[in-house]
Order: sequence, then C-alpha cells, then structure tokens
Amino acid sequence: MAGAEEIGQAVRTDRATIAEAAIAAPPEARAVLQIDLGALKANWATLNAASGSAECAAVVKANAYGLGIEEVVAALAREGAKTFFVATLQEALRVRAQVPGAIVYVLDGYLAGAGDYYAGFNIRPVLSSLGEIEDWSRFASTKGRRHPAAIHIDTGMNRLGLSAGEVDQLAARLDLLDPFYVAMLMSHLASADEADNPLNRTQLARFEALRRRLPERRASFANSGGIFLGPDYHFDLVRAGIAIYGGRAFVGAANPMRTVVRLIARILQVREAAPGETVGYGASYHLTRPSRLATIACGYADGFLRALSGDDAHPGPVGYIGEHPVPVVGRVSMDLITVDVTDVPEHLVHRGGFVEVIGDRVTLDDLTDRAGTIGYELLTRLGSRVHRVYVGG
Ligand SMILES: *Cc1c(COP(=O)(O)O)cnc(C)c1O
Repeated sequence: MAGAEEIGQAVRTDRATIAEAAIAAPPEARAVLQIDLGALKANWATLNAASGSAECAAVVKANAYGLGIEEVVAALAREGAKTFFVATLQEALRVRAQVPGAIVYVLDGYLAGAGDYYAGFNIRPVLSSLGEIEDWSRFASTKGRRHPAAIHIDTGMNRLGLSAGEVDQLAARLDLLDPFYVAMLMSHLASADEADNPLNRTQLARFEALRRRLPERRASFANSGGIFLGPDYHFDLVRAGIAIYGGRAFVGAANPMRTVVRLIARILQVREAAPGETVGYGASYHLTRPSRLATIACGYADGFLRALSGDDAHPGPVGYIGEHPVPVVGRVSMDLITVDVTDVPEHLVHRGGFVEVIGDRVTLDDLTDRAGTIGYELLTRLGSRVHRVYVGG
C-alpha cells in the first residue's frame, strides 16, 4: 500500500490531480471536490509542532468546514489528534460515532433538556454564561459522576462567554461547580489573523486576569492564527481550525499550509463565439476576439460564489486546464460558469473533460479576497452538491 505521503506527492501535480479525480469520479459526477487527507494530516502535524507542549485540538464544526466530519475526524485521529471541537450536539454525536475515545466539546454549550445526550455519549458542553452553568450544575447534580465541561470566558468578542462581571459572580458561588468537573477554561481571539493587532495582547491580559479569579484549570486560548502568535498564546490546548484545512491563518503573510481541497468541474459544452457577442446573464462580458468558450458544470449552487463573475471591467478568476489558464467570463449562474479556452490547444478541451477551478494555483484565499469574503465561508459552501473524492487517507 502506498503511504499517505506518497499519495500526497502524487496528487500534487495538476495533471495527476485531474486524471486521478476524473478516474475516481463516477460518470455522473459533474463537479468533483478532491480532499487530500494526507495534506490535512500534514497540516495538523505542522500546527501540533508549532504548538510546542500544548495539545493541538481540531475544530471540526460545520461538517469539518464543509469537508466531511467522518473522514476528517478519522484521518486526524490516526495522526494523533485526541480532542475535537464542534458547534452542535448533532456534530458531536458524529464525532463520537467515528472515534469512540475522542474528547468532544460542543461550542453551542448546554441545551437544557439535552443533558442525557451529553452524559450518555460522554460529550462536553462549553458553558458560556452563568445561567448555562447553573442549568448544567443542576443537571449534573442528578448524575452519579462529575461530568466534565469547559467554561468559556469572553475577553473581547462579545459573542459567547462569561463577562468579567459573571466571572466575579461565579467566583463568589464556587459551589455551582461542585456537581461537575471543570476540564478547561477557554477564551477566543477576535483578531488572531492580524499578527500586529494590539487587541491580541489586550485579550491575552484579560484572559490571564480573569482565569486567576477561578480555581486553576487547563486553559485554551488560541485558534489557528493564535498558534502563530507565539507560546504566550498557547496555554495547555490550542484549537486549530482553518489552517488544518489549508486556509491561511494570517492576512498578508505567506500561507505555510498545504492545499487540501481542489475543485474540478466537467466541461458540458464547447462553443465558438464572435467578437461583440456577450456571455451569460446581464450580458456583462463582451468578447473582443473570435473566442472558444467552455461551459462547465459548477455554479453558485455548488458553492462557487457568484461574486467570482467576470465582466468587462472586472475580469473573473482563472481556472486551469493542464498548465493553461482559463479565465471565468460572464456571470456565475446557479449551475454553470463559462471559461474562455481560446488559448488552450484544441485537443485538451473536450466535452466531458475537467477544468480545475480551485487548487494550488488558484487558492481558496485568492478567490475569497476577490469575492470579499474569507476561506471559511467558501469552504463551508462547497460540496453540498459536488461529488467528493478523498485521497491520501
Ligand atoms: C471556529 C473556532 C475556532 C477555530 O478557529 P480557526 O480560525 O478556524 O482556527 C477556535 N475556537 C472557537 C471558539 C471557534 O469558534
């Protein structure tokens, strides 16, 4: 059997990528999302090494950022990941089914009434307000064992987490913690993707001060960006998300992570068009030369953002056929995009062939910078309809 590393190498070249995905794709597949589990595991290992002595937990919320919670969790567990964070209880149950020994935290926290799921499947809520701690404490006191949970302290997001005032109230009512086990105190950075943002230090100072008001526990603070802010931010456990999936953790710096996702879409039709003709809805793109166009099977319903359209004033992103760039022309529609293949040797462009629209050369971050969004959003939108192929697992 080929090692994951070898397979990872094999799919790195574009030709191999396209050939392999095309072979693995059933004939009815129109667009194929190739997920390189070898690269995913290598990214986790890089982050784990960068985290020093802290444990590197994997954030697998939103179906592992859209890439498939079962496959992602199984691969990361084989690589050595032991702790997983999800958003919802349903996601937690999927992680539990995949890795019976995993430690699983639910960021939604404790939904009153769902206690038996947490207790029965050994899932840990992240408790984010005093009221939630009261509810969980009451539930936990009906159980024979001190079930673990985390406590989330807000240090600057104003999203989830105990305020400073609530931390003080909790410190005055520590008996609330008796019925359960506080496994971890955590907080979350608002601007970890901006290395120089002073809010990072401010939040760090707040976290250190607030956690000292409570009994000493393991602490967790850093997301992907936070890992690269340095050891002060690591504490006992880091929570890595986007960087595992190959997205950049920092704005404005080279991304050291390996590419995990490639999206290729099938050519449904090749056509000729004359100068002066327009392409697509709104007739927003005018051809300036005799052109050959390929219509490919991927649109915004597949997660390819409509903001990635090309018009006369704003050229679209490029895809690739082999080594040849093919610009997106005209608007992205629900099921289709059109690319200009005029400059590609004719024998490489044929109905049923594939165009790579996301990969090493056109990264998630390139596309989302252009579309005014972030890699996280594009990832979680991809793949509800496209066929998925996992390699390198
Ligand atoms: C999503 C999330 C993470 C992971 O963040 P990335 O930027 O994807 O690394 C970590 N912690 C919390 C609380 C989160 O919601």
